Amino acid sequence: MTDRLKQLTEIVTDFFFPRQCIGCGKVGDFICDQCSKKLPRLLPPICQKCGKPESSGIYCQACWKKQDGIDAIRSVFIFNGMIRTAVHELKYRNLRAIAAPLAGHMADYANENIISGDIVVPVPLHIKRLRQRGYNQSELLAIEFAGIVKLPISNCLSRTRDSQPQVRTSNANMRRENVKNAFSCANKEIIDRHVILIDDVCTSGATLEACTVALKQAGVKNVVGFTLAREI
Ligand SMILES: [Zn+2]
Ligand SMILES: [Zn+2]
Repeated sequence: MTDRLKQLTEIVTDFFFPRQCIGCGKVGDFICDQCSKKLPRLLPPICQKCGKPESSGIYCQACWKKQDGIDAIRSVFIFNGMIRTAVHELKYRNLRAIAAPLAGHMADYANENIISGDIVVPVPLHIKRLRQRGYNQSELLAIEFAGIVKLPISNCLSRTRDSQPQVRTSNANMRRENVKNAFSCANKEIIDRHVILIDDVCTSGATLEACTVALKQAGVKNVVGFTLAREI
C-alpha cells in the first residue's frame, strides 16, 4: 500500500472507529500508555516447550515425555481482562485497526525473548468462516507482526475442514479431535524453513499442533507457535 493510501485508510478508520482506550475510554489510542502497563503479561517461569506457567522454568510434566510436534509455544499475554476485550473487538466487532498495536506488543516480546524464525505463517480460517467475518484476525496480526520484524509472510496453510469453534468444545481431547487433519499445506517455498506460526489465542494448543503436523509434512524444519494470548 502506498503511504498516501495508508494515510487515507487511517483517516477513514479513525472516523468510523475513533481511537479510544478499551481499558479506560481515554481518546487517542486503542490501549493508552497507562493501561498498557497493566496488561496481563504471561511472565516466566514457563515451560520452555509449551509455554505454560511452570515453576521449574524447564519443562512441564507433559513436555518431558513429548518428543515430536510443535517445537515451542509462546504467548505474550494471559487471555484475561483488557486482552480478552481486545481480542473480542478484533474478532467480533470488526475493530481491525487494533491488530497493529497488538502486533506491536508481539514484536516487542519477540525481540526480548528471541522468537526466531525466517517466515511468518498465520493460522488460517476455513473459507466459510472467512466469508462470514470478512477477514482472518490471525492473518491481520501476522501481517502487522511480519512488517515490524521484517520477515516474509506466507499463507501456505489452508483449513480444509470447518471444525467447530473451539469455544464450543470443552476438553483438550475433544479439541484435538476437532482440529485433527483440519489443515493442509501445499507450498514448496516452505521446505526447510523455520516458521513462526501466528494465532490470536492459544487454548489447549491443539490448533497450533494440528497446523504443525501439516507444516512438517510439507517439509518445514521448525515451528514456534506464537500467540497474542493464552488461556491459563
Ligand atoms: Zn487506558
Ligand atoms: Zn510444557
